[in-house]
Amino acid sequence: MIRTFYFDNNATTRVAPEVIEAMQPYFGELYGNPSSMHAFGGQVAGPVEEARAKVAALIGAEPAEIVFTSCGSEADNQAIFGTVEALGAQTVVITSRTEHPAVLEPCRILRERGHKVISIGVDGVGQLDLQELSAALMEQGPKLVTLMWANNETGVIFPIAEIARRVRAAGGVFHTDAVQAVGKLDDVDMRKVPVDLLSLSGHKLHAPKGIGALYIRRGTRVNPFLRGGHQEHGRRAGTENVPYIVGLGRAADLAREAMVDETTRVAQLRDRLEEGLLASCPDARVNGDTRHRLPNTANISFEFIEGEAILYHLSDAGICASSGSACTSGSLEPSHVIRAMGVPFTAVHGSIRFSLSHYNTAADVDHVLNVMPGVVHKLRAMSPFVKA
Ligand code: PLP
Repeated sequence: MIRTFYFDNNATTRVAPEVIEAMQPYFGELYGNPSSMHAFGGQVAGPVEEARAKVAALIGAEPAEIVFTSCGSEADNQAIFGTVEALGAQTVVITSRTEHPAVLEPCRILRERGHKVISIGVDGVGQLDLQELSAALMEQGPKLVTLMWANNETGVIFPIAEIARRVRAAGGVFHTDAVQAVGKLDDVDMRKVPVDLLSLSGHKLHAPKGIGALYIRRGTRVNPFLRGGHQEHGRRAGTENVPYIVGLGRAADLAREAMVDETTRVAQLRDRLEEGLLASCPDARVNGDTRHRLPNTANISFEFIEGEAILYHLSDAGICASSGSACTSGSLEPSHVIRAMGVPFTAVHGSIRFSLSHYNTAADVDHVLNVMPGVVHKLRAMSPFVKA
């Protein structure tokens, strides 16, 4: 069996062994329902609240401001539809062209329903046009602004603190999809940044797939998305997924403990990978703002060749990477993020995302650096677009 060299951590991460261990009892003997009146159910209500406190601590929030959801997409949907429903039919929605589909799609539906939706553009390195944002914030009436903290494809970080201040000054509600930022950036801190709503997802920070959370700042008006029972203080119906909530709590603790040291180590590995690839593969370019970028992400275009073909050859060598978000790969459509940045045609199709985690080692990076030049050379030799 070939060894796996996993460089696709923005798609999903390995569940940490400590997280699996923490979850285990809640699949077995501790199977109660936290809403039950009996003591057996009560045994799991405590751990759910402890997990809430740990998730809150990771982002500098109050435990009561955390609502558990089934995933990041659900948190995004609740934030967007729930706010617009609470604010009314006249609500203007302001977003960007490089959001994840979990935000783009609700915004498209709201546009279809008659809302004014303003989609802000980005520059050549994927940075938000702040002048366009300021102009949009002059719109009359209730406003929901939904802008991602960090981009899943390029790692580009929007200036969220500055954006949040502008939205607040304009009287808008500010939601940020921080699915890629939480656990990777220590400035995701609700005591310092005036965000109203924030989405996060467990499987991007070494908890399992199928658990997420929505941060709702105290006093923010947002309707529930799932209706039925009174769980989560009436903010999200459905019996709590106790094992996964406990797992998310443990993962939040691990992320908080490791944040500073691991972020530096992962950034050094990423930089070594990026510099090595640029040095050994001609006609390669980095996509995205390298000054404001997640520490774990490198998005590199290899001109004149197809990303899918590169991935196929990398996969043969045990290397897992991605050519855009996991949701869009599988189609040959170039990524909307790379297109929004105006990347030249010859480079749009050959963009590859390498995303690391603290499980990556220097030896993993060396393996990619050994394999990649040969793959690029081979594909260029077959490319109809290659330079004469
Ligand atoms: N938002 C961003 C920026 C993401 O990268 C993802 C997942 O790729 C999501 C939202 C959706 O999260 P989930 O997979 O938990 O629904």
